[in-house]
Amino acid sequence: MTPRPLRVAIVGSGPGGFYAAEALLASEAPRVEVDMIEALPAPFGLVRYGVAPDHPKIKTIIARYEKTAEHASFAFLGNTEVGRDLSVDELRRFYDAVVFASGAQTDRRLGIPGEDLPGSYTATEFVAWYNGHPAYQDRVFDLSCDCAVVIGQGNVAVDVARILAKTTDELAQTDITAQALDVLAESKLREIRMVGRRGPVQAAFTPVELKELGELADADVVVDARDLELNDASRAEIEVLKWRDARKNVDILREFAARELAGKSRRLVIPFFRSPKEFRGHELVLEHNALSGEAGAQKAVGTGVLETVACGALFRSVGYRGIPIAGVPFDERAGIIPNVEGRVVQNGAPVAGLYVVGWIKRGPSGVIGTNKPDASETVKHLLADAPSLAAAPEPSREAVLELLASRGVRVVSYAQWRAIDAAEVARGAAAGKPREKFVDVDEMLSAAGGPNAAPQKRGPTVGGCK
Ligand code: NAP
Repeated sequence: MTPRPLRVAIVGSGPGGFYAAEALLASEAPRVEVDMIEALPAPFGLVRYGVAPDHPKIKTIIARYEKTAEHASFAFLGNTEVGRDLSVDELRRFYDAVVFASGAQTDRRLGIPGEDLPGSYTATEFVAWYNGHPAYQDRVFDLSCDCAVVIGQGNVAVDVARILAKTTDELAQTDITAQALDVLAESKLREIRMVGRRGPVQAAFTPVELKELGELADADVVVDARDLELNDASRAEIEVLKWRDARKNVDILREFAARELAGKSRRLVIPFFRSPKEFRGHELVLEHNALSGEAGAQKAVGTGVLETVACGALFRSVGYRGIPIAGVPFDERAGIIPNVEGRVVQNGAPVAGLYVVGWIKRGPSGVIGTNKPDASETVKHLLADAPSLAAAPEPSREAVLELLASRGVRVVSYAQWRAIDAAEVARGAAAGKPREKFVDVDEMLSAAGGPNAAPQKRGPTVGGCK
């Protein structure tokens, strides 16, 4: 390699991308220059568009990412989409290495009849909508029915159920969008059911998140004590395999089951051992399950007993998956970019210069902090590979910006994002909210200011997607 800094592009600006940037910028030999390329004008991905608005503490991690963004060798290229504005081949012209940090942007499917009927929604779109993601603002959620069902018992399902069950007073001073708050204010829901296919010991939610469901201002939490009778294998999971969260979850659920109804306006019901079989637009058919298999590997097996529940709004929250990027290998089954410890591979062989971090590397698991060791692992390999990487033929930020300008792409810098940020905070202040997010890209670009504050006009694009 030449003595110039190693030029690395990071595609995506969520936690994985920012932890990768932090680790790369800490390197002294080689020195590294990072360009973070983000499709939206705003950074932070999952922290901004995934974390629930009523969990502001989790968002304080942004302060750490801001420090990274202040580094002299860091640049943010917002409003720039790889695959639309720049191809992966072009990235390789400008960068010695590319790290994909694009997350898991779509949902797993249930594969049941009626899944696509009106009234059936994915957690992905609901969460992105209430968090103000511009691509999801056209979604319409009809909450004029009595009963909504959330399928899945992970922490995303808990977020969805909690947001549906909360009063607008509980949400009004969060950064939920004004539009979402208006829709939720009109909600006629009386019952929200968060349904799991296995038992309380196998549920994916964590105790802190579960406990919160018992603290809602105007929703009683309801658990059937019969669901908490554990089979031998489930007891072994707690006692022999020492599943600590499961033990805590069961204790919390027992306390919920023992509660009297307090006569609140809504009920948040947590049924176990049920799988969705068919959605009919106004009702959902569930099959009762039993557990089968050894401790640690118990599966839900249908018993043939069916139950039909009223359900005018179905929220599917059964896990996320990544989406492919043109020019990069993709594992369709797992929904990730295939890799070995962060080095992208194709048919088992490494693809020189391409790396992955975060959910597009390992699938949608773990908390935000999990992405730190995950990114360190990838960066360690990238830096070890650096001497043998083919040097980029045009290793210049100016060259990338010129190409993007020639295509009419209005690149948003970090300073411009700060202007958007300040405008959002100012908009929120009047309503006592931490911010009122812009939900429209052109509005964000206007707030970004700068020499070219008019809505963008895009020129030729790559990949023909737009
Ligand atoms: P998750 O934790 O993997 O949970 C997925 C849920 O869907 C599980 O209950 C799973 O049940 C169920 N499921 C999967 N396929 C199903 C099917 N065909 N029918 C019925 N149920 C099905 O995923 P997630 O909730 O999307 O969360 C993703 C990650 O983000 C997790 O690591 C989570 O902890 C994290 N997260 C954290 C927070 C927080 O810390 N506050 C908030 C949100 C998300 P089985 O177990 O039976 O497969």
